[in-house]
This record gives sequence, C-alpha cells and structure tokens, in this order.
Amino acid sequence: MATTTQDYYEILGVSKTAGQDEIKKAYRKLARKYHPDTNPDDPRAEERFKEITTAYEVLSNPEKRKQYDTGPSAFFGQEGARGFDPSAFGGAQPFSGDFADLFGGLFGGRFTSGTRRRRTAGERGRDVNVGVTISFEDSLKGVTTRISVPKIVQCAACSGTGAAPGTGPSTCPQCGGRGVTTQNQGFFAMSQECPLCGGEGTVIQHPCPECAGRGVAQGLRKFTVPIPAGAKDGTKIRLKGKGEPGRHGGGAGDLYVVVHVEESPLYERRGSDLVLDVPVSFAEAVLGAAIPIPTPDGRVSLKVPAGVKEGTLLRVKGKGVPGLGGKKRGNLLARIRVTTPTRLTKGEKEIFERLRDLERGTPRDGLLGWEG
Ligand SMILES: [Zn+2]
Ligand SMILES: [Zn+2]
Repeated sequence: MATTTQDYYEILGVSKTAGQDEIKKAYRKLARKYHPDTNPDDPRAEERFKEITTAYEVLSNPEKRKQYDTGPSAFFGQEGARGFDPSAFGGAQPFSGDFADLFGGLFGGRFTSGTRRRRTAGERGRDVNVGVTISFEDSLKGVTTRISVPKIVQCAACSGTGAAPGTGPSTCPQCGGRGVTTQNQGFFAMSQECPLCGGEGTVIQHPCPECAGRGVAQGLRKFTVPIPAGAKDGTKIRLKGKGEPGRHGGGAGDLYVVVHVEESPLYERRGSDLVLDVPVSFAEAVLGAAIPIPTPDGRVSLKVPAGVKEGTLLRVKGKGVPGLGGKKRGNLLARIRVTTPTRLTKGEKEIFERLRDLERGTPRDGLLGWEG
C-alpha cells in the first residue's frame, strides 16, 4: 500500500483548515461507503477503507495532525520509505481508539460488543458435510429424512458470557479493557492484541460451569431432506446456505448431505439397472419355465427359455432404478443361477442314470486328443 505520497486531506475530501467535526463527518460518510461489511469481497473498497481510516486516525488526533502538517516527510520519518502500512500496526485495523463510539450502531451493533476490532472483508462460511444412511428400498422409492447437524450455540446457562451465573466478566487488568496493548514507537503507537484477554477487553474470574467459560454449547440444527427416488450410494444433496454462517457479511456455506445406501439382500445396482440372482433347477434350465420373481414394483413372472445357461441375464424392462432428473428408468436383469441337485431320491437318481445312458455324445468333444 503506497500511501506515502497521498494527501490525507485529499483522501477525506476536506480542506487543510477543516475542523474536527468536519473531518469526523467526512470520515463517517466515506467509511460507511467503503466499509467491508457493505462491500463484501471487494478488495478495492477494503483498500480504500484502510486509507480513509489511516487518514482519519492522523487528522482526528490534534498532535498527529500537527506533525503531519509540518510535512509528510517529517511525519513519516524512516517509515516513509515503505509507506504507512496499517498491517504493521497490529493487524489490518490500524485504529485502536474510538471505533465503536464513532460507529455507534451503524453496522447492526456489531461494534457495540466491539472488542474485536480486526476487520476483514466478508468471509464465506465453510461447507459442511453430513452423512445419512438409507435402505436400498428407500433409495429406489425416494424418502424424506430428518437430519441433525451439530451447531455451536450460545450457552444457555451463562447467556454466552462464559461467566458463572450471577457473576460477570471483569475488565482485563492488562489492557484496561481496550483489548490491545500499546507500545510507543516513534510517532506511532504499536498496537497488539492483548495476550491476557485475547482482545476481548474482559476476563472471566468465575467461569460458567456448564460451558467451562467458553460461552458456547453444542446444539443441533434439524433439517428435513428429501432424497429423490433413484439416489445412489454417495449422492450428495446440496442445501444452499445451510452450512456454517459467514463472517463479516460473507455468505453462509452450503450443507452437503451425503447419502449412504445400504446394500440390498436381493439386488445389486449396476448404473440404472438392478441385477437379481434367480436360481433355477436343472430341469427348469433344460425345459424352460415361467417363474415368479420379485421386482421393486412387486412380483412378475419371468419367462426362462428352454436351454438357458448359467449366468445368462434375462431383461425385465423398466423394473430397474427410477430415472433421476428425467432419465429413463433402468431394467431388472435376472441372472440365471442353475442349481445342481445334490440330494437325490432313489427315483430321481434312477431318472438321471437313465438320462445319462440316453445322452448322445458328450459335451467334451475336442477335449481329448490335444494333450500331445
Ligand atoms: Zn456457560
Ligand atoms: Zn486485555
């Protein structure tokens, strides 16, 4: 930031003879216009706001103004070589004085509790991921779930003060309640966040037993989340603006509900198709059959052609996963599992033996004679 050559009077748009009231008025007007809260995510406005604040800090202080008036070079001294950088004076906020007084409720009272004077441009809240588990059946039909998301809330016992009920925070003995400690360095006061109170200006002697003095507790936010029919495992549903709240006027983050779908005892999902294992008997495989099978819509009769082979996929149209976003519904694929009979009755055994004797040739033609 090169403000060395800039004229503080020019920045505030006042004359060199302007009185304190006029300077204050000009500053308020400009600060309101360029304040980061009213210009979220605008680095130029933020820069301008810093310039204005710097100019005001000097011109509103009769002693500093006098030094400045005698000549910027004298005023800036050695610091002038690299300009007046507010960040060298305890963070982005060079202002250590009557900021809260000056703005008295201008920005929604944010300054009234205003011990934290560090101002940054709007900061978007973080996105939050939360998982939800649904049954396979629900994933096909669609379901509305209720989810609870942990949220930091004000401690009810101490109303967020962190002090035990009946007591209150007391003024920080180290900084006298200013939240900053100041060291004089030449013309400037070097301000730093008070290490004892962390810039709060107050310390708590009797911490609230409920929240151990933190002033916050864990609460829950509840949301009703409609999960569309056809949602697959890993689907993310975005609830816009339901994530962590933004800071300094920044927008809230989003809440992502990550859907976990339980496995089905029957179906295996393959894209928009469902695969269903259908055991058929040896005789059914040989002769063909019409057999009832389950689908998400209830039972249907599956026509198994004669001579069907193990592993064959038979398609039942339109009985798969409902199409998401206007897509066509998938199919059900019946996968034939030929079962070999193991516990034969005497009668069955006789029939199989007869069958064997009747068989023409073997399925192993070509297997022998090549082994060399
Ligand atoms: Zn508490
Ligand atoms: Zn302090």
